[in-house]
Amino acid sequence: MTKIGLEIHCQLTHLKSKLFCSCKANYREFEINENICPVCMGLPGSLPRLNQEAVKKATIIAMALNCSTPEKIAFFRKNYFYPDLPKNFQITQLNIYGDTSVGGSGSIMVGDKKIRITRIQLEEDPGRLIYEGSSSKNQITLVDYNRAGTPLVEIVTEPDFESPKQVREFLNILSDLLENLGVSDPSLEGAMRADANVSIEGGNKVEVKNIGSFHDLEKAAHFEITRQNSLHSRDIEIVQETRHWDDKRKITVSSRSKEEDLDYRYFLEGDIPWVTMNDGIVDELKSEMPESINSKKERYISKYTIPVQVSEVLSSDKYYSDLFEQSHNESNAKEIANIITTDLMGLVDTREKRDKSKMTSKHLSDLADSIQSGKISRNSSKNALHEIVKTGKELSQIISELDLGNVSDESELAGIISEVISAEPQAVEQAKSNPQTINYLVGKVMQKTKGKADPTKTLDLLKKQLT
Ligand SMILES: [Zn+2]
Repeated sequence: MTKIGLEIHCQLTHLKSKLFCSCKANYREFEINENICPVCMGLPGSLPRLNQEAVKKATIIAMALNCSTPEKIAFFRKNYFYPDLPKNFQITQLNIYGDTSVGGSGSIMVGDKKIRITRIQLEEDPGRLIYEGSSSKNQITLVDYNRAGTPLVEIVTEPDFESPKQVREFLNILSDLLENLGVSDPSLEGAMRADANVSIEGGNKVEVKNIGSFHDLEKAAHFEITRQNSLHSRDIEIVQETRHWDDKRKITVSSRSKEEDLDYRYFLEGDIPWVTMNDGIVDELKSEMPESINSKKERYISKYTIPVQVSEVLSSDKYYSDLFEQSHNESNAKEIANIITTDLMGLVDTREKRDKSKMTSKHLSDLADSIQSGKISRNSSKNALHEIVKTGKELSQIISELDLGNVSDESELAGIISEVISAEPQAVEQAKSNPQTINYLVGKVMQKTKGKADPTKTLDLLKKQLT
C-alpha cells in the first residue's frame, strides 16, 4: 500500500508586516533587497518582536482544520547555515515541551477519507536564491532577502494519503479553505510550497523536498511511486533518503544533504516570550472565523433552492461567493448564481482578469433584475455582461448603446409574428396539426428579433394568431 504524508508551507499573504519586524509581508512589490531591516537581516543587537496578527491567522487555520489549540505557544531556533538565511537560524515552532505550536492534532475529510493533521506551526520564511548564467561554469547565485522573515504556516499531515489523486483532492480543498479564511492567496507565485514523504509496501520512506507548487506536488508523488515500484519489482532496495524535486525535468533526484532533527540543535528562542492563548483570545477568534465553505453551500441550497452543483461551485471560490453575497437579495439570488456560474466564470477565470474587471456587485443585481423583469433576454445578457466587465458602464446605457433590449412592445412583436406566419405557410399548417412543431416558428421569431423577444410571450402571441 502507498503511503504519502505532506508538509505544506503556506505564506500568510494578507498580513501587513513580517513575522518579527515591521518590514512589509508583501515582499513582491519591492526592488531586490529593499524590504529589509536589522531584525530580518539578523544584525547584532537587533531583537525580534512577534507579529500578533500572524499568531491569530495561524490559529484560525488550526481551528478550521479541527486542530487542538495549546494554552501557550513557544518559538525555537533551528540552527543551520545557508545563504538565504542571514541569521544562521530560523525561528520556528516545535513540540518538545508539550504542545506549544499554534495547532496540535486535527483532521479534515477528503471525500470519505479522513486525513489526520499532525500539527500546525508558525515560522519565518528564508530569503530567495536567484540563479543566473546558463552553464554550470558561469552560473552565479544571487540572494534576495526581501522574503526573509515573512510569515509562513507549516501544515504537517500524517501519512494518510493512499494515492496522488487523493493528494490533489486534499490540496484543492485546502487551498479553497485558506482562501475562504482570508489568510492566504494560493494563486500568488511561491505562496504554497511542500515536502512529501512517500513509501510503498515493504519499502523505506523517501522524503521529497523543494516542491514549488501544488500542481507539482501531485506529479512528484506520482513520479516517486513509479520509481519505487520499479526498484521493488527488480528486487532493488529502496534507500531511505532525501530527494529533491527538479521542476524543470519533473523528476526527483537524490540529494546529498542528510540533516536529521538532531543536526539542527534546536533550542528555545529566548528573545520571544511564551504567548498565553487564554480562552478569551480563542473565543474571539472563533467569532471572527468566516462562514465555512460547507455551511455556505448548505445555506445556498436550503434558503435559495440553488441546485447542489451550482452551490458547490459558488461556495468553494471566495471571489465568486463574495460577489454573490454582495449582490443578491431574496428574489434574484438564483438568477445571480446562474449568471456567475454559467457566464461570469468564463470571463474572469484568472487573477489578472479579475483585477482588470470593471464589474461591481450592483451590475450583477441590475442584470439579474433585468432578466427577471423581461427587459433583457438571457441570451443578450451574456453580451451585456461581457461589456460590463470590459467597460464598467451602467447596464441601462449598455442596453441602449448595443440595442440589447427585448422587444417589449406587444404590437411590435405581434407584427413580427404576422410576418413570420405569412413567410412560413408550410410550418404554420404543420403547427396547426401538430402543436409540438410550433417551436420552429418561435425560433424564426427569435431569429428575426436577434434573440430579443421573450420566448414565453412569443409563444402566447403565436398561439393566439394561429387559432
Ligand atoms: Zn525587517
